[in-house]
Amino acid sequence: MSLSSNNELNEWCWNEQPAKNIYEIFLKNKFHLVCPHAKCNVKRLFEKNFSGNGTEIKPQFSCSYCKTKYDIIDFYINIIKGKLRDLPEKTYYHKKIEQKSPTLSIKSVKNKSDVVVKIEKFVDSDEELSDIEILNDDSEIIYNFSEKDLSLTEDSSKKNSSYISYSSIGNKTLRINPGDSYSIVNMSASSSKKSNPVVITSTKRSAESENSSSKKLKEFKNSKETDSETFLTYEEFEKKINCLKDEFDSILMNQNDNIRSNFNKNIEIINVLSNRLEEISNIVDESISEYSKSGVAKINQLTKDMDELENFNDSLTNQVIVLTNVLEKIIFIDNKYNEIFKNFDINHHLQFIKTNILNGDAYSDSLMAEAKSKPMISIPDSSEATKDISTRFHVDMNDYDDFILKMSMVGVNFNQKTNACDISYKLRRIFIKGIVKTPKEKLIENLKIFGFNFDYILNVEMVSKKVYEFTVYFSYAPKFCSIVNDNDFITILPKFDPLDPDFPNPIPEMKKYKISSYIYKLRHNIENSKSEVYKNYANELISEIEQKTAYLFIN
Ligand SMILES: [Zn+2]
Repeated sequence: MSLSSNNELNEWCWNEQPAKNIYEIFLKNKFHLVCPHAKCNVKRLFEKNFSGNGTEIKPQFSCSYCKTKYDIIDFYINIIKGKLRDLPEKTYYHKKIEQKSPTLSIKSVKNKSDVVVKIEKFVDSDEELSDIEILNDDSEIIYNFSEKDLSLTEDSSKKNSSYISYSSIGNKTLRINPGDSYSIVNMSASSSKKSNPVVITSTKRSAESENSSSKKLKEFKNSKETDSETFLTYEEFEKKINCLKDEFDSILMNQNDNIRSNFNKNIEIINVLSNRLEEISNIVDESISEYSKSGVAKINQLTKDMDELENFNDSLTNQVIVLTNVLEKIIFIDNKYNEIFKNFDINHHLQFIKTNILNGDAYSDSLMAEAKSKPMISIPDSSEATKDISTRFHVDMNDYDDFILKMSMVGVNFNQKTNACDISYKLRRIFIKGIVKTPKEKLIENLKIFGFNFDYILNVEMVSKKVYEFTVYFSYAPKFCSIVNDNDFITILPKFDPLDPDFPNPIPEMKKYKISSYIYKLRHNIENSKSEVYKNYANELISEIEQKTAYLFIN
């Protein structure tokens, strides 16, 4: 017997529930099922299969790789992962129909030719068993039963079952080889469709028998199909065609509508998407252009700044080079200077100067004293004369410079030439405007109230209208000027010359008169002064003036 015929013969079990339902579910999942067998344990294809025979056939699935068979319920629950409550109730419809064919069972085999055969038939089959043939694998009829050979027996153990049994063959001898398979065929001519062979399968099969057996099976099948065919009248056919056409048209229309609406929806979605894409690309473009605008400007500015920095750095480097050169020169000069003065003995020279002075001057003690004490304080006493003389030997230009600087600090800049006697006596005549003519003693008293110190002012004399001449020591002059500045009513006249006439564009006679009158005043002061310093100073001043203005008096 072939496997295919076997399959077809046993197909009924797959038409029963729940096998039929499980198979439908299986078909939907067949590519996703994992074979749990240890050999496989991966996704496998499964095939319909079965076990048992006759009425005892059970549907099974088998793995196409490892050939392991699985009970359908087991397969459904564990491999398909289905739920039991979803399955329909168990049915036997197809089993009943198929099992209308008689089954033959070999009850016992005492020896090769002695066998008891029992033929079984379903109860609800109204077909009586007529002649029955038993075919071997080679489709040879090995036994032929007639109706009279069979006797109905009630099997108590199967009372509630759906089939009845006919009794055994009796004295007829059946040559049968245990392990071979045989077919039993009901030969009743009136009911050929119910005469399907019933297979008793033993383990051993012969290949040659398969073809003949399946041929026979096909013949049965064909007869069955022609029987069931029906014919329609022309009107019925046309009606049905129209009906189908209408149905088809409406389906087409619906389909068209669906396609159109889906197409429109898709177009909308595509439009929305493309708009969004455009927006995004615009934003990206803007960002890029903005970046390149600002970014490029910034980079340009940076480049410019870098250039400037570089130039600045260059000029700095140049300046550093220049400074380094100057420093080198200074160091060079310093070294030269040290070399030159290395053997210069300052003490020796000082000693030399000192000795010279001591030798040529009887008043060396007062000289040394004066050199030490600054500022020089002049108090009219017996030693005044010695101081006056000593200054002749010690003309310190630094004192004069110091005096000029300090005077400029209190706002007095002399523009007249300083007389030689000024420098040698460290005295300066300062001219003040704003004091009306007052008796000398009274004036000195008043000025003392304002803070003027007459220890340092050797003479006060009116020399012009409202202009008084003060003969002041260098050391006191700045302080004197600052007191004058503190008092608004009196003013220093730094450009005032007592030899100039009071009128503009004076004739030489006026000049001569002015000079003579000034010298006369100086002489008068000398007569009245108690200060020897002033007397000597004034005398020298007169001789200097006479020298300078001599040209006026030649004619
Ligand atoms: Zn497997």
